[in-house]
Amino acid sequence: MPLNEPPVIEIKNLHKSFGALEVIKGVDIVAHKGDVVSLIGSSGSGKSTILRCANLLENSQKGDILFEGEPVKWKGTGASRVPADRKQVMRIRTNLSMVFQQFNLWSHMTILENVMEAPVTVLGRDKAEVEASARKYLDKVGIGDKCDAYPAQLSGGQQQRAAIARGLCMEPRALLFDEPTSALDPELEQEVIKVIKSLANEGRTMLIVTHDMRMAADISDTVVFLHQGKIEEQGDPADILVNPQTERLKQFLSATA
Ligand code: ADP
Ligand code: MG
Repeated sequence: MPLNEPPVIEIKNLHKSFGALEVIKGVDIVAHKGDVVSLIGSSGSGKSTILRCANLLENSQKGDILFEGEPVKWKGTGASRVPADRKQVMRIRTNLSMVFQQFNLWSHMTILENVMEAPVTVLGRDKAEVEASARKYLDKVGIGDKCDAYPAQLSGGQQQRAAIARGLCMEPRALLFDEPTSALDPELEQEVIKVIKSLANEGRTMLIVTHDMRMAADISDTVVFLHQGKIEEQGDPADILVNPQTERLKQFLSATA
């Protein structure tokens, strides 16, 4: 990683509450260009909330979020804090493609139309150029022959690969995955994991929430273990997944094994 380049995503001392309930309690996460950072932890530990705060789908009450070194500008403080600059929010959000557990494809559009929609309508890019790149990404994820199909005609694994192609077609600086394989049957999980691995191998910057410890071990530069809104332990997967230091991570790993 070039030393003069700021991280793609930097989260510093993030705090987030829903009403009176504080669910993120001072979390720091850094992803440099090409880093794969996996977030693991029990259900309710705050993994999805961190991703949603990172791309400004959720407000947070305290702490900084920097995108390529540029801090999010806020107005107000505490419970009334909101991003101050709509253009900045759009710029950050369009540069961080999110892939959800439930795919979230538009059912009334073909796969090709799904992939083309945001680059054309949100980024205002040239339609013919977007179509060529949409076809390229659909090929890349192995469903180039499904361009004219509707989501309901595809398997879950194919739908999730379409959602990944849709994220890639935005030409984002980073990809955020929220449990991308947990809605899939085991035999379909692998085809999605294969695509995610290939993205890791080509040096994409990714934050991945996953329950799949094998994938986390295979592709992550850093694994972050969350417990009740705090980082309990983090490090190189070869260290922390093999030799967890805290009782909580030991328990978590033995429960998921
Ligand atoms: P994870 O993704 O690790 O399962 P979440 O980030 O979804 O955890 O949730 C963290 C905590 O925040 C949980 O206690 C959850 O109930 C709470 N939470 C998440 N979303 C909301 C919401 N929209 N309103 C209220 N509480 C929420
Ligand atoms: Mg979640």
